[in-house]
Amino acid sequence: MFRRFFATATKGANLVSDVVIVGGGPAGLTMASSLKNSPILRDLSCTLIESGDITSTLQDYYADPPETILNRCVSITPATIEYLDKIGAWKFVKKARTENYDYIHTYDGLTGAAMEFDSPDMATMIENFNIQASLHQRILELNSEQPVNPLDLRDNTKVVKITRDPKTSWPIVQLSSGDSIKTRLLVGCDGARSPVRKFARIESRGWAYNQWGVVATLKYKDSGFRSPTGWQRFLPTGPLAQLPFPDSWLSIVWSVPPELAVVLVSLSDDSFVTMLNAASRLSQEELDSLYDLARDEPEKLKEEAEWRLGLFNDNLTAEQEEKFPPMVESLVPKSRGRFPLKLSHADDYVDERLALVGDAAHTTHPLAGQGLNMGQADVKSLVSTLEKSRERGLDIGSKFALDPYYSERYPYNHAMLGVVDKIHRIYSTRSPLVVWARSLGVDALNNVPFVKDLMVGQVSHMKSTK
Ligand SMILES: Cc1cc2nc3c(=O)[nH]c(=O)nc-3n(C[C@H](O)[C@H](O)[C@H](O)COP(=O)(O)OP(=O)(O)OC[C@H]3O[C@@H](n4cnc5c(N)ncnc54)[C@H](O)[C@@H]3O)c2cc1C
Repeated sequence: MFRRFFATATKGANLVSDVVIVGGGPAGLTMASSLKNSPILRDLSCTLIESGDITSTLQDYYADPPETILNRCVSITPATIEYLDKIGAWKFVKKARTENYDYIHTYDGLTGAAMEFDSPDMATMIENFNIQASLHQRILELNSEQPVNPLDLRDNTKVVKITRDPKTSWPIVQLSSGDSIKTRLLVGCDGARSPVRKFARIESRGWAYNQWGVVATLKYKDSGFRSPTGWQRFLPTGPLAQLPFPDSWLSIVWSVPPELAVVLVSLSDDSFVTMLNAASRLSQEELDSLYDLARDEPEKLKEEAEWRLGLFNDNLTAEQEEKFPPMVESLVPKSRGRFPLKLSHADDYVDERLALVGDAAHTTHPLAGQGLNMGQADVKSLVSTLEKSRERGLDIGSKFALDPYYSERYPYNHAMLGVVDKIHRIYSTRSPLVVWARSLGVDALNNVPFVKDLMVGQVSHMKSTK
């Protein structure tokens, strides 16, 4: 198909492809696999452009995964796994590097009020690379099954400019390689700063959280016989999530103000581990003084934090100990990273011959672990919309054909962004009245199984439909 169109390429573009996907992150690779897996859409020519080097990195990861868990990890829902399975990618996932957990313990850093969620197969922890590498393997498999019209994956290639053909108004994507591709449908899976969204002049609204998510891979001292549990402590500086992996590995997302993120990332490995243990157990007043020490006299931090932790732990009964995550023993060297956190939502997901998917359309605070899951549900909805329009003989790039995708996904994503933002706001305050009210609310909610089941169901079985 790609070559057939090539012969009719017009001035301004030397190549033509029915679909051009920009971005080889989780959303872009899922979009490509899903299109080529669809019996209704697989004959369309499809090109994926990614600026990074993904072919060799993902192949290396798949052939010889690192000994430790990588620092970019996500919690995925059963709905996401079901979809990855449906499009034939889940079988390539390295299951020994994933952890299913059915229990989350959340607790308030100021009041100690706790809420426990349990539900079979609530979520699965997985490295981003494990998802991307399995999708890449699926693309290679699909390409070998369909050698006449394979997906054209161009990595190490940046989209440098996008224009519209003056005659047909089809998008023309100019690449750093010098090629330019004219396309019937341009799909922006190009992340939060989406060049595709900017080209379409679609407004994206939202705000920065004035927090960075510090991520790292660590190891627990002794998980004992505890079942895999997700822990989240809501501190006024931002939530601290500890998420389980096999063999006592854990991945953290520690949301903190930017200045504190800089301090945490610059601490020695040992001091960071001690500070993390302190943040999961000590009072906010003690943490405030430890943060000051970390900033001003980092060489004194470890001794001071260990002393305070020792006092705290000595007074814990075995039953109280169960209310806290196990103590962390070590940090994987160089595994710390930090990412700015932002809420953003595009006003529209579609335009004439253009659709936005994943972080290009929306970003959210990671406290509920929903960003990637929302992107997967977007792909499912967009591909199903394209299938329906193809079956009805519509032009898949027309805005008319694409509108149902926007109508289906926007309200759901908007509601999810709003709920996550409210949780963030309620827990970020030190206002005594709000703190008192939220502890009452949490205690009450924790004793109403029906409401908790509803909350877990909404988050862990996120549907692509309203
Ligand atoms: C700390 C943290 C923790 C998180 N935890 C979770 C979680 O537990 N669960 C969850 O569901 N989500 C989580 N998320 C969100 C999740 O990581 C993102 O939603 C997801 O990775 C977005 O995928 P994407 O493919 O849409 O975008 P991206 O991963 O950003 O991919 C975009 C791609 O486009 C490429 N690109 C951009 N511009 C160009 C260009 N001009 N030319 C060519 N290529 C280009 C980029 O190189 C990139 O590879 C978390 C996020 C953070 C920051």
